[in-house]
Amino acid sequence: MTGRRKDDREPFACEHCGALVYPDTKRCPQCHRFPIRLHQCPRCKMIASAQEIACPRCGRLFEPGGDYM
Ligand SMILES: [Zn+2]
Ligand SMILES: [Zn+2]
Repeated sequence: MTGRRKDDREPFACEHCGALVYPDTKRCPQCHRFPIRLHQCPRCKMIASAQEIACPRCGRLFEPGGDYM
């Protein structure tokens, strides 16, 4: 599916389990997690994108591949 523009109402694969979810999905029907990987700081509960290596609020380092919502 390369070269296709992402329609914001098109289903996409859950980043945790690969199930198809819609963009307004708050919870994947298969793994029951928020379908986009976002880090949640275990210390201050700040939410940050998966590319962040440390919490922008308190500076705690995220586990690589972990600390997801
Ligand atoms: Zn899932
Ligand atoms: Zn934090």
